[in-house]
Amino acid sequence: MKKAKIVEVAPRDGLQNLQAFVPTDQKIALIKKLAGTGAQEIQIGSFVSPQAIAQFRDMEEVAQAVRRLKGFVPSALVPNGRGADKALACGIARLIFFFSVSSKHNYANVQQSPLDSLKELQHICRSHLSNPSMTLRVDLATAFGCPFSGNVTTAAVLRTVEKVAALGVREITLCDTVGFGHPKDVEEKFLACFRRFPEIRFGAHFHNTRGLAQANALRAYDIGVRSFDSSAGGLGGCPYAPGSSGNVATEDLVFMFESMGIKTGMDLKKLLNVCAWLQKILPQAKLSGSLFQAGLPHKHKLFC
Ligand code: ZN
Repeated sequence: MKKAKIVEVAPRDGLQNLQAFVPTDQKIALIKKLAGTGAQEIQIGSFVSPQAIAQFRDMEEVAQAVRRLKGFVPSALVPNGRGADKALACGIARLIFFFSVSSKHNYANVQQSPLDSLKELQHICRSHLSNPSMTLRVDLATAFGCPFSGNVTTAAVLRTVEKVAALGVREITLCDTVGFGHPKDVEEKFLACFRRFPEIRFGAHFHNTRGLAQANALRAYDIGVRSFDSSAGGLGGCPYAPGSSGNVATEDLVFMFESMGIKTGMDLKKLLNVCAWLQKILPQAKLSGSLFQAGLPHKHKLFC
């Protein structure tokens, strides 16, 4: 059977650019509702300093409330060893370490060089990688372009992957953080990664900043990527392109995959209900997903 794994990132990527603080009980309610849609994994937030992203100042409370929910794996982003320790102490055993391929973006995002981020990753790997109950994924931001330095080459991505792989990491996601990627670039970078690092599982994280996220996801699927991050309603944005769309919308991605016979295990009607609820509790947020705007096709064979 053809399958794709969807990693729901609305509680993390979707909320992180919102200026207004989303109350803790609403964050918990969002995660519970998303769990009901069949998402296998949900990013519940980021264990970052509250000075960096105030939206996640209640991470410990959110983690405590959702860590024992059934049916999905809760994961959280961590930029350093301190974040990793905090997440694990809160019972979150799937960590997503992130840093940027582009040096300028890494300075802007986490105020340090990629080399210093790698030292943090090395510390996390040494401390925790032998722990069988923990899993670690590494996200490479700006793998398809940087808002400060522009083009990011395949060679630069491969060099970064090599350094991460050398630490024992076996799961890496290439992130189009600012929506610069296009299908040809997606094909070139993923195929180069598959060839050089057959031992590593690669996932995709696309933003729809310039309308190409679905096309990129389809190309990535066609060449063998099986894990995709997406955000309900396309919630989110890009701090470097104000007013732009967020991640590829989960319901659009699921609609595309399921229509093509690729199983995601997700319930589209429930997903659309979550989008409607999100729009109600976050009237200021722009939900950019197409399916949420248009609705399911009348008497669609998959959903009637
Ligand atoms: Zn993102």
